[in-house]
Amino acid sequence: MSRATILIVDDEISNIEIMNAILEDDYEICFATSGKQALDAARTVQPDLVLLDVLMPDIDGFEVCRQLKADSLLADIPVIFTTGLGDTEDEMRGLSLGAIDYVTKPIQPAILRARVGNHVELKRLRDQLATMAVTDALTGLSNRRHMERSLQTEAARLTRTGEWLSVIMLDIDFFKQFNDTYGHLAGDRCIAMVAAALARAVKRATDLPARYGGEEFACILPGADPQSAELVAQEIRLQIQSLNIPHSQSRVSPFITVSIGVASARCRPNVPADRWMIEADRQLYVSKQGGRDRITTTQFDQQTECCGT
Ligand code: GH3
Ligand code: MG
Ligand code: MG
Repeated sequence: MSRATILIVDDEISNIEIMNAILEDDYEICFATSGKQALDAARTVQPDLVLLDVLMPDIDGFEVCRQLKADSLLADIPVIFTTGLGDTEDEMRGLSLGAIDYVTKPIQPAILRARVGNHVELKRLRDQLATMAVTDALTGLSNRRHMERSLQTEAARLTRTGEWLSVIMLDIDFFKQFNDTYGHLAGDRCIAMVAAALARAVKRATDLPARYGGEEFACILPGADPQSAELVAQEIRLQIQSLNIPHSQSRVSPFITVSIGVASARCRPNVPADRWMIEADRQLYVSKQGGRDRITTTQFDQQTECCGT
């Protein structure tokens, strides 16, 4: 496990030296001597915890804390105030601004070590939990809930510019027979391998491959027009083909195959994001009906109402 990073903020170098000496054996330490430096460092370093002096000449600790908590990328970083004041009102104010704890100067090494240790550990657990909440355990891909949320966000974002959005859905062919033939564990391994192949096939950082459920996967491609979405779908199919996972009971191939549906549209106001899922699912159904192991695409017109069949 990599070491956690602590940002120490204090306008007095001697204080930084004292805290650094206490913590440097266990943590990566960086420091700042002003409020402005602290905010810059927090953005670039993304520390796991901030030790924050209250009294500083430019921006004081309270204001630094307020700005950290107002920034969605920094708000989760625990802040411990360090102050010589020992004043209950200051303590209350710090905590009400979102600080997680308080230590008073002169620093007691054992107390600083213990408090920092506790909060770093809690932060690690919170981060783990946050990752688990959006991740599918078997495949490591995004889970369905996370994918659906991202789709909402992306559709809203792209609506401002009227850009393309595409969604790919895929489903492993005759997977029930695969389980029946090779067993459920082999089925799980197959799902994980297909997931890895899917992840290899989508290359843009903003593309989001996800496990939609069971042996079904989905992929959000923000900004992808129908042609590029189809190319991605072809690459997915090729990657899965090249796994060469034997499937003796498949009626379409001696190996594992997938059926794919692709839906593309420009983002427009008042069009619900789930429209992409409905359309991609419909194309997936067409691929299944057409004989499986194939790709079907649509470029749907959002002006027409979806009939929902
Ligand atoms: P089709 O080609 O029409 O998609 O046929 P299919 O057999 O793949 O489809 P069906 O929906 O009938 O069966 C899906 C199977 O996927 C049934 C279920 O046991 C299996 N399955 C779903 N989730 C998991 C999983 O997490 N692990 C394993 N091993 N199997 C799963
Ligand atoms: Mg299936
Ligand atoms: Mg299925």
